[in-house]
Amino acid sequence: MSRPRYTLNECVGDPKEWTYTWDIADDVTLSATCDFCGQDGQRLTYEVERNGETLWICQRCVGRYPVSGILDGERLDLRSTRANIHGLTARQKQKTCQDAIRQVQPALPEVTFSEIVVYFERNLQLSPRYAAPLFAAIAQLEERIDPRIFEVQTRSIAHQDEFGELDEAGKMAVWPALTPQQKRRLGSRGFAPISGMPRPRQRTRRESGLELTRSRMSALSEPANLNLGAEDAIKSNS
Ligand SMILES: [Zn+2]
Repeated sequence: MSRPRYTLNECVGDPKEWTYTWDIADDVTLSATCDFCGQDGQRLTYEVERNGETLWICQRCVGRYPVSGILDGERLDLRSTRANIHGLTARQKQKTCQDAIRQVQPALPEVTFSEIVVYFERNLQLSPRYAAPLFAAIAQLEERIDPRIFEVQTRSIAHQDEFGELDEAGKMAVWPALTPQQKRRLGSRGFAPISGMPRPRQRTRRESGLELTRSRMSALSEPANLNLGAEDAIKSNS
């Protein structure tokens, strides 16, 4: 580990002295940084204020530190403060997803677009069938939007099968939005996309090493494991 995790930045002082402004930033590229603990790669950050100075803090720090909450001039207890943050977060996430969906309207057939909208409004998540065309369209946008802002349903067998029935392009569109756990689950059912694998003729020494590691470890798709494989390959080549 390059730095100790979750250490409070020294300039913060006592977290209780900070108060939420109730402003939330939703970074669709998942690259916000927490001013309290320094963690980057964040989606949601929350503005906090102390004597006119403002910082943005991550969800973990919201749960970890007793930052003050004041609503309509009244000081909330910790539980109400977090409940308020929770409600604001849910609304913000929903709005961000709705905005993202709206952006791809011109790129999708009208029927598909309306079905996606209806499905998302009802579930606040996407089934693989709707995630595939949506994410493919989002990838074409000029503005970068990470598909991980959406939750894809894969818990039920029906949804897993739905993923399994996608064509290769559809699987590839949805795959980056899945959590490592979801990838493992779908991989164990033999549904992982194969297009990401290097083709035999184009293989470099490093890639062939990577693929060996991959098949040995079966159904692995996490970036961490792939990196591990690549490192092994480099070591064995040197
Ligand atoms: Zn933090």
